[in-house]
Amino acid sequence: MEQPGLGSTPGTHKHPFDLESVLERVREAIQGHAAAAMFELAERGHTSLFEQLVACILSIRTRDEVSLPVALRLLSTARTPEALRRLGIERLQALIRPVTFPEPKARTIHDIAVRTVEEFAGELPADAQVLQSFKGVGPKCAHLALGIARGQTYISVDVHVHRVTNRWGYVHTRTPEQTLAALEAKLPRAHWVELNRLLVPFGKHVCTGTRPRCSTCPVLSMCQQVGVSTHR
Ligand code: SF4
Repeated sequence: MEQPGLGSTPGTHKHPFDLESVLERVREAIQGHAAAAMFELAERGHTSLFEQLVACILSIRTRDEVSLPVALRLLSTARTPEALRRLGIERLQALIRPVTFPEPKARTIHDIAVRTVEEFAGELPADAQVLQSFKGVGPKCAHLALGIARGQTYISVDVHVHRVTNRWGYVHTRTPEQTLAALEAKLPRAHWVELNRLLVPFGKHVCTGTRPRCSTCPVLSMCQQVGVSTHR
């Protein structure tokens, strides 16, 4: 395959960006790599909105390799709002200890469990505004949980989605919040939920934060490599 950009100034001699082709190449590139933690949990049967939201909170600023086993351990102990409410904050903290910020995350998760039982009769509403009304839950987790658990069409932008789509030159933004707005205006809805599932492993293994693997990247010919000064 012709790979313009190699050894040349990033952004020059590129083919036009073909989103469908890029996503197909990314799908192939991530085969064999572990799915992002929440998709992996869903494949293991933890498909409820509550479980997905809890798992996303655990994953904030924590690597999947750490957050996934913690989520599995917690949800095998208590997977419903009622069970988690009864567990209590201290036991919850002990169970999630390996993730970052275990104390505030335990409080957030316990608060969600209590409010779900007391305000919503034990069933978390499939409503992004309600989910974001919980302290510690932002659009990333609300959207990803609703997308995976309920098939609702949302884009979830994390650091990987933000970084990769900007390097492609598909969006030109400074923050994940701006990236979300830009993608909502541009990305076909058919790819809204899938984008996170594709770009988390792609960002971890190919388009890494430092020294991305451009020389062997399957989308190099169409990627503008915005902001990439050194690569492998
Ligand atoms: S690894 Fe390099 S070529 Fe591939 S998407 Fe990232 S910046 Fe673009």
